[in-house]
Amino acid sequence: MPHGREELFLPELCTGIGGRKMGHDPNCIFCKIIEKKVPAKLVYEDEHAVAFEDINPQAPIHILIVPKKHIQDIHSIKHVDRELIGHLFFVAQTLGEKRGLNNGGYRMVINNGRNAGQTVFHIHLHLLSGRAFSWPPG
Ligand code: 5GP
Ligand code: ZN
Repeated sequence: MPHGREELFLPELCTGIGGRKMGHDPNCIFCKIIEKKVPAKLVYEDEHAVAFEDINPQAPIHILIVPKKHIQDIHSIKHVDRELIGHLFFVAQTLGEKRGLNNGGYRMVINNGRNAGQTVFHIHLHLLSGRAFSWPPG
């Protein structure tokens, strides 16, 4: 079981007045995947996060780890989100152990903002593995 699941306090995920889900953007592709309105190859799901295969993989293993709450980018993270953001790293740990990725290692990336290559403005961790990665990154 992923760590800290029970302790997470996420008031923004509650249903708001009129039944509208808060922390959700109806125009966001990742929110649509989370809501199962758009298909994706899900590899992990819990109450607070999902992980699915990237549609355009940059390595033999390329998984996106995504909080269910719609947070645009690093600068949109609120104080109340800090456990949720930490939880994403435990999801990475769970996937890493499940798939034995620790042997060869893996790279985790957050592209934050357009100059860094962010194209989907719903915060996510890229988990890449299955090949060697160079440094510095391109
Ligand atoms: P970013 O460029 O924002 O760091 O990463 C967005 C990632 O989402 C890209 O690697 C892109 O291939 C992936 N992506 C975009 N749309 C979809 C989609 O509809 N399904 C899946 N599985 N991945 C997507
Ligand atoms: Zn979203």
